[in-house]
Amino acid sequence: MAVRWDGRDIYLNVRDLLPPADYERLAANIPLPQRGKMGREAQSYLQNNRRIQKSLFIAECVVNHSYPYRDVTFHVSGRIDGVYKMPQRLELEEIKSVMMNAGAFRTVRPEALPHFTTQALIYAYLLQDSNQGVEVIPYLRLFNLINDKEKRFRLKYNRQTVERMIIARFESLYTAGEKEARRNVVRQSALRDLHFDLPEQRPGQKMMMDAAAQALLQKEHLLVSAPTGTGKTAGALIPFLKHAATHGLKIFFATSRTSQQEQVLNTLRRIDPHETVFRYFTVGAAGRLCANPVFFCHESFCPYIDTFAQRLDQSRLTEQLLARKGLTRDDLYQAAVEKRLCPVEVQNKLLRHYDVLIGDINYVFDPMASRKNLFGREGFDKWLLIVDEAHGLPDRGRDYLSVTLSRHTLESLGFELAAEKSKVYDGLRAALDLWYKWFDAREEEGRVHYTDREAYAFDPPVKELTEMARVFEAAYIAYLMHKVRRNIIRPNDPVEALYYLFRRITFSLRQEEVPLKGLFSARDGGTFRLVCPDASGYLRNRLERFTTVLAMSATLDPLDYYQNMLGFPPDNTRRLFVPSPFPSDHKKVVIVPHISTRYKDRHKTWPLVAEVIRETIAVKPGNYLVFFPGFDYLQNVSLFLGNCPVEIIRQRPEMQEEERREILAIIKKKETPVALLAVLGGIFAEGIDFSGDMAIGVIIVGPGLPPHTHERELMRAHFENVHGDGDAYAYRYPAGQKIIQAAGRLIRTQQDTGVIVLIGERFAEEKYQELLPDYWLEKPGDVEITADYRAALLDFWQGLERKNRKGHPSS
Ligand code: SF4
Repeated sequence: MAVRWDGRDIYLNVRDLLPPADYERLAANIPLPQRGKMGREAQSYLQNNRRIQKSLFIAECVVNHSYPYRDVTFHVSGRIDGVYKMPQRLELEEIKSVMMNAGAFRTVRPEALPHFTTQALIYAYLLQDSNQGVEVIPYLRLFNLINDKEKRFRLKYNRQTVERMIIARFESLYTAGEKEARRNVVRQSALRDLHFDLPEQRPGQKMMMDAAAQALLQKEHLLVSAPTGTGKTAGALIPFLKHAATHGLKIFFATSRTSQQEQVLNTLRRIDPHETVFRYFTVGAAGRLCANPVFFCHESFCPYIDTFAQRLDQSRLTEQLLARKGLTRDDLYQAAVEKRLCPVEVQNKLLRHYDVLIGDINYVFDPMASRKNLFGREGFDKWLLIVDEAHGLPDRGRDYLSVTLSRHTLESLGFELAAEKSKVYDGLRAALDLWYKWFDAREEEGRVHYTDREAYAFDPPVKELTEMARVFEAAYIAYLMHKVRRNIIRPNDPVEALYYLFRRITFSLRQEEVPLKGLFSARDGGTFRLVCPDASGYLRNRLERFTTVLAMSATLDPLDYYQNMLGFPPDNTRRLFVPSPFPSDHKKVVIVPHISTRYKDRHKTWPLVAEVIRETIAVKPGNYLVFFPGFDYLQNVSLFLGNCPVEIIRQRPEMQEEERREILAIIKKKETPVALLAVLGGIFAEGIDFSGDMAIGVIIVGPGLPPHTHERELMRAHFENVHGDGDAYAYRYPAGQKIIQAAGRLIRTQQDTGVIVLIGERFAEEKYQELLPDYWLEKPGDVEITADYRAALLDFWQGLERKNRKGHPSS
């Protein structure tokens, strides 16, 4: 529980009265969930034992007491592991698990564990106060997880000393609270001086701001489909900032793109340059902030975590960083590294002090990366959430809950373990054997029932899989203990990797609100995939914790589809379609319908597609982006682009960020026009502006439906069942999103003009036309279906020239 201020009442837990704990030596070798689990197991073992021995023993004894202090009241609560009710006195027992080698445990004294002893002594104080001052004797009971030995110490309890300690802590909490209250007064008065005006008022932005303000007022969610140029960032952020400041709330702006994070920061800097009202910070991913050459959080292996809490306290780094205005994650990294402190842990300490956090979508939605502590500590109702690029979230949601496990992975680990002699490896080998047998059974089932198919689907046996994962976990814990005892340090441990994979599987299996299917294929000697065809139930659970969530994108069309896929509740969600801010006559959409781009016909139509590309460019030479459904298709068509009037650049599958930047630099230089051949959904199709002359046309070859894989077919069947239109949900709508994203590279500013050419007969069909956004079809003639595409394009470019000559561009 976090310290909670409620007027003049302050609610806190005994743990909030303790000084910062340092990392327990060697404990970092055990991943957190296991440490907690082992500790709890040890605790309940000791408690149960004690209950048998003494009938006066009360386990998990809850204590509460209120203490007036200055002009406030501290309400302290806690749960003591065990209390003995003796006739004249109470004895309390605080049970702690430790990991120490046998020699160290033999000689350990309670003074060496001040965190544990202080906790027991504060419990004694609290117990005494809740029992009319009766005599209390505190004990600390230690259980060593390394050798299963236990020790019990009677602690010296001096009420005055403990009281002084508690009062000192009350004072520091009181001072911090007063400081926060003063800051709030300053914030409220500074709020009046902030200018939330936009640099330029755009009609779509105004619509967004009004809709967001209403949603916040009514405690509803808001889905916004708004094309490029709307000014979505400010349109969402400004009403949220106003609301957050006046209601004492915080904002998490979830966006994965660095450029977008920068835009959020710029908006904040413009509104509140000195952070008088809002403290804002961009959250860094652990992988990026890690200062150690190898990401392995063990104090013997990483100097940045060794004695971390103690050194952090001495360095006063958190205070210094909080005093800085405009702190970025890079600044934090530098400062932490200078003090040789882990930047990730420093960031964790700071996060709760900020009013606006900007970070990756995974922090909110990925079960393995989400910041439950951050939101949970404050309470989700204290947070407002903005999700940018929300169109990508349904796919991410499915990825969070779908897991692949191949026999190859299991056998690779089995091979590594084969030579290990210690008994602890027998447990791991036995756990792997269960999985081998399960794979054998799946293979057999496939042979008997599905002989002519390369893969088959089945309902995942939840109990069996959970039990097999549990057996592996038990063996894994024994293995961890073995590592600790022997001080084995192993970065990138494959046992640990497999354990985390099983954790993902069991997490998914526990989600009752999501449909799951098993898929078994012959690939890699047998591959099992747990498939989540639809993550909307899981996403809904996450979203509904927040009072208001605004999700936005340029491609949330059709909104019904996205609302269903994102899990936004129909009874509590507003929806907004924002029209394009750009004049419709700045672009022309031409559909070339006489060429089949279907998979079976492609080899016959490569030359025809190449001809359309060539001719489109010939009508008006300049930079063009040509998008294909895949690399093979791109490569084959490019073989026929011999006489293209511009230079051809091809995206390659393995292309890295560096190369991408080089290509963009070439295009920007404008020495010779370029046709960039790229793939839909790839690195050139999203998140890049090709404004001005960087692109005067986008050509899209075929609708780029997702391939007919077994997994996609499971999706189709699921959505057919749930929404009655499996084809649209599994194939057409995802394809439409990629088309709109790719075409959206073209018109980025009021001055931009260009053509969008869609090649393929399917684009002329009604069900594919539905995929085109409304703002492409504002007036008759905006979209033309014609085999005489040259004439249509020529007409558009000549019309534009005429307008420009007359000097009255419609913008
Ligand atoms: S620097 Fe931090 S994140 Fe990196 S290995 Fe050390 S403790 Fe882990």
